[in-house]
Amino acid sequence: MPIRLVDTVRQYQELKEEIDAAIHRVLEHGRYILGPEVAGLEREVAEECGCASGIGVASGTDALLLSLAALGVGPGDEVITTPFTFVSTAEVISLRGGTPVFADITPRTVGIIPVHLYGQVAEMEQFQAIAEKHHLWIIEDAAQALGAKRDGHPAGSFGALGCISFFPTKNLGAFGDGGMVVSNDAGLADRVRRLRYHGSAGGYDYDQIGYNSRLDEIQAAVLRVKLPELAKFNGARRRTAALYHSRVYNPHVTLPADPTGGHVWHQFTLRCKQRGLLAAALKEHEIESKIYYPTPLHLQKTYEHLGYKPGSLPEAERACEEVLSIPISQELTDEEKGQIIAAVNDFDPGG
Ligand SMILES: *Cc1c(COP(=O)(O)O)cnc(C)c1O
Repeated sequence: MPIRLVDTVRQYQELKEEIDAAIHRVLEHGRYILGPEVAGLEREVAEECGCASGIGVASGTDALLLSLAALGVGPGDEVITTPFTFVSTAEVISLRGGTPVFADITPRTVGIIPVHLYGQVAEMEQFQAIAEKHHLWIIEDAAQALGAKRDGHPAGSFGALGCISFFPTKNLGAFGDGGMVVSNDAGLADRVRRLRYHGSAGGYDYDQIGYNSRLDEIQAAVLRVKLPELAKFNGARRRTAALYHSRVYNPHVTLPADPTGGHVWHQFTLRCKQRGLLAAALKEHEIESKIYYPTPLHLQKTYEHLGYKPGSLPEAERACEEVLSIPISQELTDEEKGQIIAAVNDFDPGG
């Protein structure tokens, strides 16, 4: 049997009875848009993130987009972010008419979007110091980091707004698209709540242009079955990471670090100069691996007009050339983990 990066069906089968019952509850109660399951999940995820409010939206991308809209980002505004991330982080800035600036500060900068890549909270105290000094806001891209912590503080609780994705392969995954914005700022939370509902507080009065971006009630019901298991899922990932750290020895491979211990290991991402050969060697053992992400955003065709060139952001470019993620999902069996460890240890680019 090939070892996959994620096996969404295996996870469903483990919780099948409860999930089927939750879906049927929604079918029977009939409040299909913003019903009790969405409201319940909003409370529960906000609590997980140490935040007062949660607003369920259609996806992680929309969580970011509506957060930018709530902060009033528009044409002419520049937002600083990283080029070493999924496309959404920058795409949403452009969708608002703004310009992503890949890790630099200019007079037009209004805010920063740090990304908790692979499930590890970014060095938020440094971002907070920069934000304070230059009067910028912070939106956390916590799409990969639900449940992660830094110095005891949960991902999503550092910025003005935190953005979570429930894409099926994330640590807390739905059976389709879904996302949430969390915040401790009641005013901003209220703005996001209106923005997801055409700019309305609920009736047919509209005080601003909004979106139709709501978390689906059926997905919320599924997620409420899985959320109590999240600590267990993340714990399983942590144990696997610890096992890899204790048993993988290969001079050609660098393992990811977790200096503060709050990582939730959405991905376990190796660095290897001969990454292509390593991927091929793993494939020979029927072990799936994947590159997150092969091209930094500043070198994508979509951002050609911003004028970045190869060499503009060398660290991000080098990372894109060297990273390779190996399986770490909570569904891996001990035997599969043993096979992965053996395959990485056996890798010899010269042999
Ligand atoms: C998954 C992801 C998103 C987007 O989430 P969707 O739910 O797929 O829209 C944004 N940023 C990062 C870092 C992600 O991993």
